[in-house]
Amino acid sequence: MIGEFSLISKYFTKDVKDQRLVKGIGDDCALLSLSNDELLAITTDTLNENIHFFKDEDPFFLGYKSLLVNVSDLASMGALPKYYTLSITLPNSDEEFLDKFSKGLFSLSDKLNMALIGGNTSKGPLSITIEAFGTIKKGYEYLREKANNNDNIYITNTLGVAALFVDAKYNKININKESLDYTHKKAMLMEDRCAFSCALNSYVHSAIDISDGLIGDLKHILELSNKGANLDLSNFIFDDVFALNAITKDKALDYALYGGGDYELLFLVNDQNENKVLDIAKKHNLLIQKIGKITDKKDLIINFNNNRLDIKKAFEHF
Ligand code: ADP
Ligand code: MG
Repeated sequence: MIGEFSLISKYFTKDVKDQRLVKGIGDDCALLSLSNDELLAITTDTLNENIHFFKDEDPFFLGYKSLLVNVSDLASMGALPKYYTLSITLPNSDEEFLDKFSKGLFSLSDKLNMALIGGNTSKGPLSITIEAFGTIKKGYEYLREKANNNDNIYITNTLGVAALFVDAKYNKININKESLDYTHKKAMLMEDRCAFSCALNSYVHSAIDISDGLIGDLKHILELSNKGANLDLSNFIFDDVFALNAITKDKALDYALYGGGDYELLFLVNDQNENKVLDIAKKHNLLIQKIGKITDKKDLIINFNNNRLDIKKAFEHF
């Protein structure tokens, strides 16, 4: 069977000749030229029951996350969120569900000043697809292909909690009830990184959102930029929930590196702009962690407490 990214490349990627198309398939958003100085960023993402969320998920959480996963792609391009469409497939017209779902959805779009401008409603197994649109000043877009030798690799916040929640729900790992509620919230109501990302506009040229695990998503940047990376995770900060449940650092690191669903931002900054970025993070009251450097040598090297780690296969749907 063919893998997720191979199938997109083999069956759905064609050359497009269109003067307005600045970026087609291959980055977190497509980019269209709107005018001499403005780009339109477009992205879409689907959440399916039993694949992206558990049956009987809180509808408020679901509404929020359906939009969050899309604005996360806008943030990873440096785009300011503007509009979205909602295509929803519902098993029935349960108004209690719809009331809560719409409240969750609008709690995020109102915060970001985004307008719902269209969509589609149909019947079937619960599935939500949103398409989101944002704008970027030309030249300020963050591209996966723009990594430079010696760039510092940063991530926002901590990683791995969303994947810990999924494993706990499947009884693959034991965590206490309080931690289950905590990880559930972190897996569904994660903060958006839009304001922080836009504030980095003059200082960052390459970024990606971490939706499929740190290693898998970093690899997209490395492949498209023809670069490698040297990571040292010895000082990596983990969410307290791992220690609270006596989960070893090795195991926590596995969640952080390969667990999906965090929707944090990975971005690159050169030495010259590093202090400016640290100031911006402070102003946004946001933890950011330096995890390593980009290298011209195309290897991906990961060190943890003076040991070089083996690299595992990253998550793909197929
Ligand atoms: P992300 O997770 O950041 O939304 P993906 O890794 O899912 O992006 O997709 C990689 C790239 O492939 C993106 O540019 C996306 O738009 C594109 N893509 C994914 N599925 C399809 C498809 N069925 N047809 C065309 N392009 C696709
Ligand atoms: Mg993405």
